[in-house]
Amino acid sequence: MQVKVQPKLIIHGGAGSSLHGKGGLETVRRSLHAVIEDVYALLLSGANAAAAVLRGCQLLEDDPRFNAGTGSVLQSDGQIRMSASLMDGMSGRFSGVINVSRVKNPIELAYFLQNSPDRVLSDYGSAELARELQVPSYNALTELRLQEWIQERQDNFKRTMAGVIAEPELLETSNAGRGTIGVVALDAHGGLAVGTSTGGKGFERIGRVSDSAMPAGNYATGHAAVSCTGIGEDIIDECLAPRIVVRVTDGMTLKDAMQRSFAEAHEHQRDLGAIALDASGAIAWGKTSQVLLAAYHDGEKIGDTLEMAVGTQIGCIS
Ligand code: ASP
Repeated sequence: MQVKVQPKLIIHGGAGSSLHGKGGLETVRRSLHAVIEDVYALLLSGANAAAAVLRGCQLLEDDPRFNAGTGSVLQSDGQIRMSASLMDGMSGRFSGVINVSRVKNPIELAYFLQNSPDRVLSDYGSAELARELQVPSYNALTELRLQEWIQERQDNFKRTMAGVIAEPELLETSNAGRGTIGVVALDAHGGLAVGTSTGGKGFERIGRVSDSAMPAGNYATGHAAVSCTGIGEDIIDECLAPRIVVRVTDGMTLKDAMQRSFAEAHEHQRDLGAIALDASGAIAWGKTSQVLLAAYHDGEKIGDTLEMAVGTQIGCIS
């Protein structure tokens, strides 16, 4: 197959406060780089952007370190409810599931819904769909997330969010953060797609809806695609993903759109991060939080944002 466009790929495993030293950093780096290698090879073999996004999200959901699929955080009542969405920039279609339980890969339901007349399903509807598709029942609970919840329960839920990364040491700290995952891909045919999947903020009240299954946190056109992470309420208030994508669609460069949108988010004291690609192949990332766990493939090599300085807001490779 002749490659017409150089594929590009960027993924994230959440944003939050510090990564608890070098040990945490190297493990997260290994996890993210392994996913990049796998998904980039798929893009080089000619897979379309939506298929690459599906694969990347599945791999990240299956990694218990991240707060999506296996290893999702527990909500205030001790239950896991996951949300995921996918948007194909070429068809312009958004699909997703909100607060689904007992499935291994919520992104698979979102992917399936791309071709359904009803494209966003909430808890009950998602469970019905999983049953119809005969998706096996799956328990996404990990021991670490259970211990995290038990400890929070003892502290009477003083923390507003769960740990960015599931690590034993984090149980001893009040290191708030998150570990939602996201994938943005530009395929060899010039197609863009984005997917985002989460277990939510952790310790939230029942029925709270995450930005990860809303366009605010996951949005694409034929011009640009963005996946967000951070405090969902902040992402919704900024309407961050469409804010960046529409700016690019209207003619701004991706770098300028990120710069402007992150300057605004900073001014509004939001706690969030985002990863982005545009149709020309520019790759960008941004954060107002302390760290953003992202990695990318620029066509030549793999890079990541794990050591991005605390005060730095955006990075871009055009
Ligand atoms: N944005 C997600 C939420 O608020 C959490 C995260 O990104 O880690 O549900």
